[in-house]
Amino acid sequence: MTAEKNGLPEFVPVVVVGAGPAGIAAATLLGQYGVETLVLDRHETVYPLPRAVHADDEVFRILARLGVGEEFAAHSRPGHGLRLIDPQMRVLSEIPRNTKISAAHGFPQMNMFDQPELEAMLRANVKRYPKVTIHGNVEVTSVTQTQNGRVRVSFLDRVRGGEQSVQASYVLGCDGANSLTRASIGAHMYGLPFTQDWLVIDVNTDVDLKQWEGCHQLCNPERGGTYMRVSETRYRWEFQLVDGETVADYQTLADVESLIRPWLGGTPADALELVRVTAYTFRAQVASRWRDRNVFLLGDAAHLTPPFVGQGLAAGLRDALNLTWKLVGVLDGTLPESVLDTYEQERKLHAAAMILMAVSVGAAMTGGGRVGDLIRHVVFPRMQNLRLPGTRVSAADGVTPGLRSSELVIKSRTPGGLAGTLCPNPVLGDGLRFDEVVGNRFALITSSPLTDAQRNELRSRGAVVVHAAPDSELEGWLRKGRATAAIVRPDRAVMQAGKNIQALSDALPAFSAVHGAPDKTEKVTQ
Ligand SMILES: Cc1cc2nc3c(=O)[nH]c(=O)nc-3n(C[C@H](O)[C@H](O)[C@H](O)COP(=O)(O)OP(=O)(O)OC[C@H]3O[C@@H](n4cnc5c(N)ncnc54)[C@H](O)[C@@H]3O)c2cc1C
Repeated sequence: MTAEKNGLPEFVPVVVVGAGPAGIAAATLLGQYGVETLVLDRHETVYPLPRAVHADDEVFRILARLGVGEEFAAHSRPGHGLRLIDPQMRVLSEIPRNTKISAAHGFPQMNMFDQPELEAMLRANVKRYPKVTIHGNVEVTSVTQTQNGRVRVSFLDRVRGGEQSVQASYVLGCDGANSLTRASIGAHMYGLPFTQDWLVIDVNTDVDLKQWEGCHQLCNPERGGTYMRVSETRYRWEFQLVDGETVADYQTLADVESLIRPWLGGTPADALELVRVTAYTFRAQVASRWRDRNVFLLGDAAHLTPPFVGQGLAAGLRDALNLTWKLVGVLDGTLPESVLDTYEQERKLHAAAMILMAVSVGAAMTGGGRVGDLIRHVVFPRMQNLRLPGTRVSAADGVTPGLRSSELVIKSRTPGGLAGTLCPNPVLGDGLRFDEVVGNRFALITSSPLTDAQRNELRSRGAVVVHAAPDSELEGWLRKGRATAAIVRPDRAVMQAGKNIQALSDALPAFSAVHGAPDKTEKVTQ
């Protein structure tokens, strides 16, 4: 950071607006690479109200990358899957989840947690990175691109008083659903005509309600609902508000008891403590643009989803992982500026596919008439085979879509290749998982031997070579993708895969910004 004025820098390479999960994740990853980053937020501490409660195994994998994997494991509760139920509590359909270790990412597939608790972990963890500064109690008032290719961020400092500003090379707008950064780049939200008001009820109790420990989606065109156990003592319900109702109608346990009674069994209402009741308007939208020159949008600033498949916070973490290493490479001159275009190209369709999945579940829960019946009784019971058009995403296997083609996702002509998909995270020969070995670097996974020259060349470009031994998980993965080698990016998406080792070695970008990568051996055999 450059000279300070009133204890604040005048210039920082990256300013992050918003210290929610997306902002702190982005700052942590930048901090791991040693990039000076200033995070500005209107609050001094985490937003205290519970919102997200579900994270899948891919998100757990990202949390482990951020450095909070063990703590998250200690505080989260593996869930058993998703059930659609009818108003008589009969199960219409079930998508089970593995509570142990998933093959795709190496973590439980469904994890229940408390968002403020997770955010507190992330905030404590980011303090390990000395290049990251969080400045709370400031209201960002404008984000303006200057003539010299920099961005000026102005803010009201509630502690020091008065209007201040800082310049940055890049600004990441992680400022949530009502993003000022989004407005500053002239973007607007657009999407499906899906707007529903829902009541969110959080309850604490020492009594075990003894329900199936997954997410119950109540399919009822008159009032859809959701129930799930979040922790040892915390339970969450969400119910659609019907015409004429507001949150004011549901302020006490007595008000909500008739809604939640089907899950209480014999438990008396006075054994429950109401943590809070609030209402949210659920939307299904993406921002019209996610970037203008040196300003980017991440998290809820870029996309909003109904929480029916628990993927909103998840999408923000995926944004942070997708963008930050590209920014690092551009900042230190190892990657061309054009790679920054791939952020929106890759992330927008992915986010839209997840939103579509959430809206489909919402339609099953709340859709009336013959269409609703058709979804509930015909589509969902066959969900094991349901795939979203144009993607490989399936509700049944929990694997999210692959990324579309870009400068950094080079697909072969034959369908079903590995490019754009995420590589697995198996335990390698030395007992460490793939991610622990590779850290924040590129990797070349190969089942064919490399020449010394190829190995030296890859090392000089900062990449890790991982040898996929015969019959290992990685070798099986390569074989299934009809490849003998794959370039894996720092965010674990496959850039390119195939059988021509020399061509793949040549295509692997030089990426030397590895300040935070673990210091493990360069060659690992699985
Ligand atoms: C009821 C409900 C249930 C949900 N369930 C799930 C779930 O199960 N799983 C899941 O993955 N997601 C879920 N979500 C979504 C998840 O909570 C959000 O997607 C996530 O919090 C978004 O993170 P973010 O960092 O993008 O934005 P936010 O968390 O909104 O953070 C934005 C930050 O920016 C700051 N800020 C904004 N404007 C300014 C400004 N002008 N100046 C300074 N600071 C500013 C704010 O103070 C805030 O700290 C749920 C949401 C709701 C409402």
